[in-house]
Amino acid sequence: MDYKAPRGTHDLWGANARKLHALEETCRRVFQKFDYSEIKFPTFEDAALFTRSIGEATDIVEKEMYVFEDRKGRRLSLRPEGTASVVRAYLENGLAQSMPLGKFFYCGSMFRYERPQAGRYREFYQIGAEYFANPGPAADAEVIVLARDVLRAAGISEMTVHLHTLGCPSCRPSFRKSLADYLSTQEGLCADCCRRVVTNPLRVLDCKIDSPRLTDLPRMVDFLCGECVQHFAGVQELLRAAQCAYEIDTRLVRGLDYYTRTIFEIRSAHLGSQDALAAGGRYDNLVKDLGGPQTPAVGFALGSERVLMAAEKLNTGIEAPAPRVIFIAVAGKSLEREAFRLAAHLRSLPAPGALLPGAIAFSVEGPFADKSLKSQFRLADKLCAEKVIIFGEAEFQRDAVTVRDMATQNQEEILIGSF
Ligand code: AMP
Repeated sequence: MDYKAPRGTHDLWGANARKLHALEETCRRVFQKFDYSEIKFPTFEDAALFTRSIGEATDIVEKEMYVFEDRKGRRLSLRPEGTASVVRAYLENGLAQSMPLGKFFYCGSMFRYERPQAGRYREFYQIGAEYFANPGPAADAEVIVLARDVLRAAGISEMTVHLHTLGCPSCRPSFRKSLADYLSTQEGLCADCCRRVVTNPLRVLDCKIDSPRLTDLPRMVDFLCGECVQHFAGVQELLRAAQCAYEIDTRLVRGLDYYTRTIFEIRSAHLGSQDALAAGGRYDNLVKDLGGPQTPAVGFALGSERVLMAAEKLNTGIEAPAPRVIFIAVAGKSLEREAFRLAAHLRSLPAPGALLPGAIAFSVEGPFADKSLKSQFRLADKLCAEKVIIFGEAEFQRDAVTVRDMATQNQEEILIGSF
């Protein structure tokens, strides 16, 4: 074989493809309870949309975007995340006017040129939500509770919600300055962090190399303005009301510049170094920065692969069983037409009825008129068919077929008209 899937990408089929689908369906049901409606947006956008919203001095923009020129020289990028696109769609389509509540969710793959490892890919699936135009702490708390409920529904029974606030444009600059002053006195920061002290000092806080040994760091909570203090207290009060446990994590920052005030990350103890299942926060200035009216907003995204991995470790994942199989076998080519007709009829039924009592999802396989009856049975076995409907000459003369239960090997003759 001359070709391989590009590094950091993966194929999904069979049970794993079904699990991803089941995860998305499960999340859809939770989003519905919170009244979020689904939004689809392009896989690629104007690269400037991401540069502008995520921030020039972030890892995503500096190192991780898949940027390309199309045939007309437009500079485009595969989407590294969903928020910027949802904001663009919200503004471009006038959704503030047409949707009474600006609550949206999405499912789809994102692209980042990162160093691949377990739980970190270059193309990965996210499920996320955005809530526009509610400035109050209730929106932050709702999104965090939503993320928790989505993860719970996905089978994540153990998780830790890390909570922090980044303040607002009136109080963050003094923290940023104090942090930059502190960091500039520190010896031996890694090369990236030496740069970040000037460009984006907050990111030094989540550097895996440097942050563990930095002690007595200035803390954002000590710099918050009165309104931010009140907002943060309000979010916490509502989280407690919804019995959503959290830990204040003063080292928590985010890899995207657009966040204001509340940020959070939900982690699993079962995932090793890539332990973040979901993350998000408030971004009150992004809609305006992208050319819209001042519109507060808050959102989150989870990594589908990581959620499925954690649920598997906990043995509590969503069940995504394969459909139950009815196999149609024919004793000769002359019966193919009738067998084909019955297959089409069975597939048009909402449920397989007495053939497979209680089945929610079922497949009808066959006929394979060019194979011998023996090899049709072998195939039915491989496919774990529960029932085989056999078209034989003699029964067909009586307008009947034989139905074999593959588990018990019991057979009975049934009139074709009764299906
Ligand atoms: P972010 O968009 O960076 O806030 O990430 C939100 C969630 O997406 C994270 O908590 C991860 O679960 C997941 N995620 C981010 N980057 C990757 C990646 N490269 N591979 C797999 N999952 C990822």
